[in-house]
Amino acid sequence: MQGSFQLPLTRIAQSPYNWKAIALGLTAASSLFETLILIKQLPNYSKPAPPPALKEQFPPETYAKSQSYGRAKALFTLAKGAWGVVEAGLTLYFDVYAWAWGAAAGTLAYFGYSGDREIAQSILFAGILALISTVTALPWDYYYSFVLEEAHGFNKMTRLTFVTDLLKSFLVGAAFGVPFLAAFLAIIKHFGQSFVYYLMGFMLAFQLVLVVLYPLVIQPLFNKLTPLEEGSTLKLRIEALATRLKFPLKHLYQIDGSKRSNHSNAYFYGLPWSKHIVIFDTLIDQSSDEEVEAVLAHELGHWSMSHPTKMLLINQVHIFLLLSSFPPFLTSRTFLPSFGFPTLPADTPLTRPAPILPTFLLFQLLLQPIEHVMQFAMNAVTRAFEYQADAFAVGLGGDFRQRLGDALTKLHVKNLSTLHVDWLYSAYHYSHPTLPERLKAMDQMEMKRSGKKEL
Ligand SMILES: [Zn+2]
Repeated sequence: MQGSFQLPLTRIAQSPYNWKAIALGLTAASSLFETLILIKQLPNYSKPAPPPALKEQFPPETYAKSQSYGRAKALFTLAKGAWGVVEAGLTLYFDVYAWAWGAAAGTLAYFGYSGDREIAQSILFAGILALISTVTALPWDYYYSFVLEEAHGFNKMTRLTFVTDLLKSFLVGAAFGVPFLAAFLAIIKHFGQSFVYYLMGFMLAFQLVLVVLYPLVIQPLFNKLTPLEEGSTLKLRIEALATRLKFPLKHLYQIDGSKRSNHSNAYFYGLPWSKHIVIFDTLIDQSSDEEVEAVLAHELGHWSMSHPTKMLLINQVHIFLLLSSFPPFLTSRTFLPSFGFPTLPADTPLTRPAPILPTFLLFQLLLQPIEHVMQFAMNAVTRAFEYQADAFAVGLGGDFRQRLGDALTKLHVKNLSTLHVDWLYSAYHYSHPTLPERLKAMDQMEMKRSGKKEL
């Protein structure tokens, strides 16, 4: 399968195109596309009244807050996007990748390491790029938490947490990223043309290791998980729900999400035979026990219908296509030199590949249009999953429809979520259907369900 689409790609990769101009053009076009989608959404923040279905839950004052929060976030995204395209453009124009690659080699040579040390050089190269992007993102992240979220009453983070989070993220990224990158490159170097399947096997195993290690090692660095109070009505309720659905519940935690933000959530994770449910303290504070249970019924609907596994499979196909389409660029004589990397001497055999990591990163710039299409497709999939999970919760009978509807509406109000969404904006940015869409679908399911019962 790999070979069949690599042949035309090899021809393309060897062509004397101005790859840098193509990458610049695609980056600009991609940013323009996202900007236009956002601009099309902007007038929605000036609509004078909420949708009729949510008029009661959104009294004028709350509605005004939600509109102003939505507008502030949209303008922030617009400004950040504009800066993003300038940064990406400058990075390409001034050959920053080639510079970082050379700087990594220089650093190695300074410490007395010479010769071909591609893996070590790649790790330093990745480190330099990560440092640059962290530093340039810093003012934006700071503004988002301490100005924007703060102004709308959501930020709970202290400046100390902000700084320690940043340092911890960098260390965790290095602790896991360095061995991952080393293995990633070693596999490609070792297996040559047939690396794709080995690499995918390795990446899958790595993900499984992360699933196990994340709650043990990474999460405790950032958050505190406390087992839900023994014998509390909420715990009993959720345990009864898990038993009813045969969900292999091992632990039930409350997480201190309120340390950083007032936004609320709940999720589950773990291996197939041992699952953990985590509920944000903010969700517990904002909702009744019955509502939290309904939210979890929705979450367990995702589990019951194997949505995480399905997403994993879709991602594997995506990764497969990505990994098997870039090797032709490794033997291209025009690709990397176009971005300021040294031209290969005329007598180098064509089989001697160019540096893997820079090729892989720059190659991905060419895929931007495909990634946009993918985003529409992925959102369509996750929305279908959301409707299915809602239907699952409603299908549990009793007053689940009412409770889930109430819970979602309450979360919407508390999170000041946007109420009017342009269809294109929604299709591109929303992994969930909008609240009116969900409520309407749930009503239809409930009607079908009670209709069936009467028959
Ligand atoms: Zn969901």
